[in-house]
Amino acid sequence: MIKYRLICEQDHEFDGWFAGSDAFDDQVSAGEIACPYCESTKVQKALMAPSVVTSKRKTSGGTSPTEAVEQVQMFMSKVREHVETNFDYVGDQFANEARRIHYGEADEREIYGEATLDEAKDLIEEGVSVAPLPGEDKSKAN
Ligand SMILES: [Zn+2]
Repeated sequence: MIKYRLICEQDHEFDGWFAGSDAFDDQVSAGEIACPYCESTKVQKALMAPSVVTSKRKTSGGTSPTEAVEQVQMFMSKVREHVETNFDYVGDQFANEARRIHYGEADEREIYGEATLDEAKDLIEEGVSVAPLPGEDKSKAN
């Protein structure tokens, strides 16, 4: 059985259970599915927003939660490595420098450095693209 989120022509949403995708199509074209609110038979599958799976169920044939976390951490440290190698480090001047680049007052380049949450928010509001740098901050470990 498959559960579908359905929507009628009047935008009423409701759930329906079907033997499968084909069964759904057949029943709809035969007019067997009616909206419980307005009895319209003009129903279709509602688009579902993508969501994050938080279930603790084990995935079949797969990556355990711990492995998944390790993969993400490895990915993040790679990102950090890439940034540290290729980006200009501007330290606590990050907000100023990002702004100058954004407004064309400094050479366009990729930079990284420290910014407070407030600074980052201000930058984003001004349309400057800012992203937090993932991974451990080596400079603070010393
Ligand atoms: Zn309806």
